[in-house]
Amino acid sequence: STCQNDKSAAAPGNFTQRRSFGGETTITATLFPGDGIGPEIADSVKEIFNATQVPIKWEEFEIGKTIDPRTGSFLTWESMESVRRNGIGLKGPMTTPIGKGFKSLNLTLRKELGLYANVRPCLSIPGYKTRYDNVDLVTIRENTEGEYSGLEHQVVKGVVESLKIITRQASMRVAEYAFHYAQTHGRKRVSAIHKANIMKKTDGLFLQCCREVAEKYPDIVYEEVIIDNCCMMLVKNPSLFDVLCMPNLYGDIISDLCAGLIGGLGLTPSGNIGDNGLALMEAVHGTAPDIAGKNMANPTALLLSSVMMLQHLKIQDKADQIHKAIMKTIEEGQYLTRDLGGKSSTSEYTKAVIGNL
Ligand code: NAD
Repeated sequence: STCQNDKSAAAPGNFTQRRSFGGETTITATLFPGDGIGPEIADSVKEIFNATQVPIKWEEFEIGKTIDPRTGSFLTWESMESVRRNGIGLKGPMTTPIGKGFKSLNLTLRKELGLYANVRPCLSIPGYKTRYDNVDLVTIRENTEGEYSGLEHQVVKGVVESLKIITRQASMRVAEYAFHYAQTHGRKRVSAIHKANIMKKTDGLFLQCCREVAEKYPDIVYEEVIIDNCCMMLVKNPSLFDVLCMPNLYGDIISDLCAGLIGGLGLTPSGNIGDNGLALMEAVHGTAPDIAGKNMANPTALLLSSVMMLQHLKIQDKADQIHKAIMKTIEEGQYLTRDLGGKSSTSEYTKAVIGNL
C-alpha cells in the first residue's frame, strides 16, 4: 500500500480547528482543487469522504484570477489565512508556465506557509504488478530553497544565472525531520542524496547538516549517496533504500523516478509539512494537461494524500477504511483507470472505490 506505514506525517496541528456539532467533532480543512485534472480528482475525494462520513468540513478556494499583492501570486491572502487557521489542507495540482509568466503557485504556498519538508512515500500496491513488488521508500525533500529559490537573471545577452541557495537552517530542519520521521515510523536507514563532489559548497553544507543530525540518531544507519549513482541503484534494486533525504530539485526528480517503480504518477501521494504540525497534502503529479477535463485521470494519488491527511489528524478509522477500499479496487483490477492499463473513467473508478468502502 502507498501509505500503510505512515501512521502520521507529523504530530497533528496544535491549532487544528475541531468543533463539536451534536456530539460529533468536525474538523475544518482547506481545499484547493487546483487546475487541469485537479477539480476532477478533488471531486473524487469529496464524494468518497461523503460516502465514508468523514467528519471534515472543507473550506474551498479556487485559484484567483488576478495577482493578490499580499501574496504576489494568483493565490489569495484569504486562502493562505485559511490554511494557517485550520492547520491542515489538501491541494490539487496547479499549473506553472514553462520558461516565462507568473510565479509558481506551488512555491508561493510552500514559502508563505513555511512548508519546509515534502514527504513522499512510495510503496508497491499489492495486486498491481510492476517490475518490483517490494518497493517501500520515502523521499524527504527540502521544500523551500535550493534551485527553487526563484533567483534567476540575465547577466549579459546570451548568459543567464540561477542561484542555488542552501542554508544551514533549512538543511538542519529537513535533516532533523527525516531522522525523526525514520525513528517514529520504524525505519532503519536514512540516505542523504547529493552531488557534493561537484557542488562542494552548497551540497557540501547540506551533507554537513545531515551528518550532524545523524550523530543524534545512533540507531539509524546513515549513508551518503551521489545522486547519479542513486538513480542507477533505485532502478536496479529499490530495496537498497529506506528514507532518502535531499535538497529540493533532486527530491522533485527522484520522487517521479520512484513513482515509476510502482506504476506511475497516478499512485503517489505527498505531504508538505511546516511548523506546529501545519500540513498541506497533495499528489506528487502535476495538472496532466493532456488528459484534463476528460474524466480520465486516476484520482488515487490525491485520494492517498487525503488518507495521509486523515492519518495526520488521527482519524485513523476513516483513513483505514478509505485506504482498504482503494487497495481492494486496484487489486480486483476491474475498474482501473487508463494509466494503470484499464478502461475506466475517473467517476467509474470512484464509484468502484465507494462500492468497496
Ligand atoms: P504531470 O505530472 O502533470 O504529467 C506527467 C504525465 O503523467 C502526463 O502524461 C499525465 O497525463 C500523467 N499523469 C499525471 N497525473 C496523472 C493522474 N492522476 N492520472 C493519470 N495520469 C496522470 O507533469 P507535467 O506534464 O510535466 O506538468 C504539467 C503541469 O503541472 C506543469 O504546469 C507543471 O508545472 C505542473 N506541476 C504541478 C505540480 C503541483 O501542483 N504540485 C507538480 C508537478 C507539475
